[in-house]
Amino acid sequence: MLDTTTTNQRALSVLSRTYTTNAVVLRRAPFGDHGALLTLLTPTEGKVPAIVRGLKRPASYLAGHLEPLALVTVGIARGRNLDVITQAQLCQVFPHLREDVYRVAVGWCAAEIIDYLLDQRQESCQTYNLFLALLRQLNTAANPDILLGFFEMRLLTILGYRPVLWQCAMCSSPNQEIEGHFAAAQGGWICKACAVTVSSSHRLSLPALNLLRCFQVGYLADLDRQEVPQPVLSEAMQTLNELVQMIAERTPRTLSLLNRIRSQRTSLLPGAQPEKLTSL
Ligand SMILES: [Zn+2]
Repeated sequence: MLDTTTTNQRALSVLSRTYTTNAVVLRRAPFGDHGALLTLLTPTEGKVPAIVRGLKRPASYLAGHLEPLALVTVGIARGRNLDVITQAQLCQVFPHLREDVYRVAVGWCAAEIIDYLLDQRQESCQTYNLFLALLRQLNTAANPDILLGFFEMRLLTILGYRPVLWQCAMCSSPNQEIEGHFAAAQGGWICKACAVTVSSSHRLSLPALNLLRCFQVGYLADLDRQEVPQPVLSEAMQTLNELVQMIAERTPRTLSLLNRIRSQRTSLLPGAQPEKLTSL
């Protein structure tokens, strides 16, 4: 729930033609000859599209700060169509995140999912705090995949799409089966009897179901210390991604990138170089 201070800050900033806010850069795309269109996630203004001019000029003092996944403080002028970034200062650097291509890809995937699921100017304080927690943990995490699973589950919960995992989503019978099914369109786990009545469900093993439950009720730091067999993690992640894709009505581009890097990491020969990332 939004506290009074946050509500007052938002009310004051709406009245002003300029405002200053913390923000995480979700994505950046070219705009005009030398500018860029940024999508920012802010704690009080929601998801904000904003342009910045002169970003590609070598002397631009903004250029180094406004990269995807950067945590910045920005000064913004409200525009008739698009807001304009007038100042930017880097707040926090995540050095280990930047050094590891897989961690960067996980961060980009989370940013893309937020961009797909969050409407512009939608209340975002909880989403902002969740994303910031992910980036901080990702900087040092032992298992980035587990963090991404936790993030996706909590984001779905914040936005009102929490999947049903403790009883059948269709008939509400308690979950006492060794192996049930998951049906994204029905909103979660379904029992064997209900599964025969729907066409779009798939089997979900008990270990994968239990991992999804941990994502719902566990703590981020505790989950990172858990050792989860890769097949169980993959099954849980595929189930979550199916839900995200159904709600977003599209597939995040970074998911295929993540899969490529993941398979490359397991088969990488000594001395070989990982895939080079290009900006979103
Ligand atoms: Zn049922």
